[in-house]
Amino acid sequence: MNKRGLLIVLSGPSGVGKGTVLRSYLEKNPGARLSISATTRQPRTGEVSGVHYYFLTEKEFDKKIEQNEMLEYATYSGHQYGTPREPVEQMLEDGLDVILEIEVQGAMQIKESCPDAIFIFIMPPNMQELTRRLVDRKTEDEETIRRRLERSHSEIAMAKEYDYVVINDTIDNALEKLDAIVCAQKCSMNHM
Ligand code: 5GP
Repeated sequence: MNKRGLLIVLSGPSGVGKGTVLRSYLEKNPGARLSISATTRQPRTGEVSGVHYYFLTEKEFDKKIEQNEMLEYATYSGHQYGTPREPVEQMLEDGLDVILEIEVQGAMQIKESCPDAIFIFIMPPNMQELTRRLVDRKTEDEETIRRRLERSHSEIAMAKEYDYVVINDTIDNALEKLDAIVCAQKCSMNHM
């Protein structure tokens, strides 16, 4: 029988580079999977439903909540985001580590419902760098960037609720730390 996988919750302000760190982590760690979230926001150019997100209408999303199909959910920048429960359960049962890349409200819900999960917060080196990254990626308009930056302050204030904080100064540094944290957790008695 496979040992149950580890649930890894990763948060950090928009633009901090979570996606880039994660992609490198997943390439290096074939036993890890990223959970595909559901959202009511519009797809960005190049985003594909079922690959990047499941893009749902408000009605579809609400129905999933009603039917208890979401492990957690939250509103972010006027849109709903949530983690479909069943695929995560299945992957953990199959012995795969599952990464939830989610914002802080959802992470706090997981803390209640899945106390064995590990919580990692990705921090920008400073606010100027966060602003630069958010502007440079050119995926959001000015108003969205402003709202996301505003929200980043309250998100960063929640970092103390996490088990670990990783500063994303360079991808290589952040990746090395993420690897070390997961490795230590797997060796810890809590996960035996
Ligand atoms: P974006 O619109 O940039 O893809 O994501 C916006 C925010 O929503 C990010 O902070 C991301 O981590 C968060 N997010 C993505 N999926 C989920 C989810 O399933 N649940 C929650 N709570 N947050 C999510």
